Amino acid sequence: MRRIPIWYWLVIPLIFMLVQVTIEAQRTAPLAYSDFKHLLKAGKVENLLITDDAIKGTLRLDGIEKILPKQKADALKQAGQAERAFISVRVNDPALVPDMDAAGVHYAGEVRSEWLSTLFSWLFPIALFFAVWGYAAKKSGLSSGWALDIGKSKARVYMEHKTGVTFDDVAGIDEAKDELIEVVEFLKNPQRYRRLGGKIPKGVLIVGAPGTGKTLLAKAVAGEAAVPFFSISGSEFVEMFVGVGAARVRDLFAQAEQKAPCIIFIDELDALGKARGISTIAGGHSEQEQTLNQLLVEMDGFDTNKGVIILAATNRPEILDPALLRPGRFDRHISLDRPDLKGREKILAVHTKHVILAPEVDLTPIAARTAGFAGADLANLVNEAALLAARHNKDKVEMSDFDEAIDRIVAGLEKKTRVMNPQEKETVAYHEAGHALIAEFRSHADRVAKISIIPRGIAALGYTQQLPTEDRYLLKRSELLDRLDVFLGGRVAEELVFGDVSTGAQNDLQLATNMARHMITQYGMSDRLGLATFEEVRAPFLNPLSLPEKKIYSERTAETIDAEIAKLLDEAHQRVRGTLSAKRRLLDLLASMLLEKETVDRAALDALIKEHDAAATPTRQVEGSHAA
Ligand code: ADP
Ligand code: ZN
Repeated sequence: MRRIPIWYWLVIPLIFMLVQVTIEAQRTAPLAYSDFKHLLKAGKVENLLITDDAIKGTLRLDGIEKILPKQKADALKQAGQAERAFISVRVNDPALVPDMDAAGVHYAGEVRSEWLSTLFSWLFPIALFFAVWGYAAKKSGLSSGWALDIGKSKARVYMEHKTGVTFDDVAGIDEAKDELIEVVEFLKNPQRYRRLGGKIPKGVLIVGAPGTGKTLLAKAVAGEAAVPFFSISGSEFVEMFVGVGAARVRDLFAQAEQKAPCIIFIDELDALGKARGISTIAGGHSEQEQTLNQLLVEMDGFDTNKGVIILAATNRPEILDPALLRPGRFDRHISLDRPDLKGREKILAVHTKHVILAPEVDLTPIAARTAGFAGADLANLVNEAALLAARHNKDKVEMSDFDEAIDRIVAGLEKKTRVMNPQEKETVAYHEAGHALIAEFRSHADRVAKISIIPRGIAALGYTQQLPTEDRYLLKRSELLDRLDVFLGGRVAEELVFGDVSTGAQNDLQLATNMARHMITQYGMSDRLGLATFEEVRAPFLNPLSLPEKKIYSERTAETIDAEIAKLLDEAHQRVRGTLSAKRRLLDLLASMLLEKETVDRAALDALIKEHDAAATPTRQVEGSHAA
């Protein structure tokens, strides 16, 4: 239902009155006082009403042309009418009353009631003020509606007693589910957990691209534990007046505490949890800061034992205020990727459960054709296919409906560059295989945990995930060199296989260059420049992306530094080329495995390497040899 803003109630009667006054003015003829006097004496007026400043009455029109000049008389006359109302400004004329008495007309004074005009003289400016304010607020984006909406914040807390969603409804993200099972157990039975001394996280941050099922997963946790689910969206706070957001947060936590055990879900956490300072333009956005502060205060203030767990979702974890990620706040992170082939098949299975499928429909080829689709896209696909079938008057959804639906959705997604064409996919597969194999064959590099060619985030088209075997605080030159090689692995693989390179390696090259620069200018790892350091360390330790500092050395040294960086990169390039040429067959195998399965985990990689080695024992090549 739409609410009618209060100011309507002020303006509409005003307009109404204005219209009435104009109509009244149309009917009433203005009369000069002297003319009125003449007409009075001639007995042409009657029913006079005398107020402080005007004389109103009725004028008999017949024969007035004998009294008034012709022009005036014509102006007063109205076709087909014998009488007309008139108004005349009253002048200070002591002879008025005697004249009226002499003419024998009926006259009366009027006690003017003042309240109406007084009311309007107040109301009108107030209404005007609100209208202008509301307009200004709307313009400046402060409030989405009129100013009288204050206090009725848009950020609504939604509370569901039962979400009705279970883990069965969430498919293809088993790792994430495993991590949340503990939370479910705790919510089901907080007392028991407490007795056993279990430590439960206060906040869990779910990170993932839009549509990967973050909200669904949060609801499933609430559903599995059969607890209420409070949800609120961070972006709704942004439009509000100062202080309202903070009050909402306080409110939310108070409500949740009463319903504990329960779950609070904050969607789009980044909107309200942006790092303080990022968005501060001339002191603006203090509202967002206040809200964020209140959230931090609330999170610190309550203890988990009460049974309230906060889940939050974001697709931009990198812009979150670090304070949100500290221990005791959102210290546990779960990341959701777009599903791989198997995952997509499982998700399709979930969504086709309630759809009548023709017997020939096979979900496997559908999954194969939908690389890059997120869970929401797949749900949409099933829905679209069902609609198409209905439009064609079928009683079952057939494979052709799915095909048509895929084409439609792919066309939409391609605009958002979320779906790769087969060539791009092959390039990415070789690129990632290159990274992975170099990591595999460099003794000091971190072990590969997972390789994927499913787009993740905006920039990365695929990724190779390496897990360090231990935490390292000191790195040797040999280890840094190995890292450098891994950075270059992707690019070199493209070079070897396609004889051409793509733009996809840009980030790798930047990382490699920064790493080389650090080695030379900060860690004294160059023979030509020796032990001197040339840059002040400002950025976090070993952060390869940190910006170079202002130069504090001569132009000649600068040239030497550049030459040394180029040399380091060049040598790495040679080494990597050597390794990948020697392992070309394995590279091909891994790339085609990636193309087929989209993700390759540790076990599959081990199996592949073993198989390859067994087949290639006789002519084993020396690793790192320079095969140009
Ligand atoms: P997010 O919050 O990450 O943007 P949602 O949780 O709102 O995404 O997902 C939107 C819809 O997509 C869900 O309601 C569900 O129908 C579907 N969906 C997403 N991920 C999955 C999944 N892993 N399994 C089943 N359905 C999913
Ligand atoms: Zn890369």
